[in-house]
Amino acid sequence: NPLIRAQYLLAAHTPAQLPPDGGFEVAFAGRSNAGKSSALNAICQQNALARVSKTPGRTQQLVFFELPPSTDRFLVDLPGYGYAKVPKDLQAHWQAFLDRYFRTREALKGLVVVMDIRHPLKEYDRQMLGYAVSRGLPAHAILTKADKLSRGAQGTALLEVRKALKAEHGDAVTAQLFSGESKLGVDEARRVIEGWLEL
Ligand code: GDP
Repeated sequence: NPLIRAQYLLAAHTPAQLPPDGGFEVAFAGRSNAGKSSALNAICQQNALARVSKTPGRTQQLVFFELPPSTDRFLVDLPGYGYAKVPKDLQAHWQAFLDRYFRTREALKGLVVVMDIRHPLKEYDRQMLGYAVSRGLPAHAILTKADKLSRGAQGTALLEVRKALKAEHGDAVTAQLFSGESKLGVDEARRVIEGWLEL
């Protein structure tokens, strides 16, 4: 499985630092503490892959992981919001970069939004989904920490999220249950990502 070979490539905080725009990439978004790093680590079967994205100062960068042996297949970790407040002008710069990335990046084939199953579809999640869908890109919602809920409550939460996504985005956004702890849903998530990356 190519995903388990994922390795850190670079962190970009300006458009000039992005890898050439000729390949296939899937971006991961999630509010801080949603469980995005744990989900990335579980999907790539690595313990510390996404740790680099959490380094202070890396919170306004796009972190690229490459999937050898390809040199043009990437997972891109977008910073979670909710870290220490950043100065206004930096925030504006970052918003502009992110906005431009979503609008223009040809290599971007899909967006994964990682959400805590107990707190789904917050404003940040909706903003990210909106970016993707308005570009005509597919998105996939990973409802993680499912292990925190009973089976019944998991099913109810999934149905509610699917209903809300359907109302807002039609069939552009799919959703699944996940747990970085129990590894529930890892194979399902991999299939979605591999499909987008044409692996
Ligand atoms: P990130 O900030 O979105 O990257 O979140 P992390 O992956 O670092 O997780 C935030 C916290 O939630 C950590 O304490 C994790 O141990 C915990 N966590 C993450 N995923 C799960 C999960 O699937 N189940 C449970 N029970 N806890 C989780």
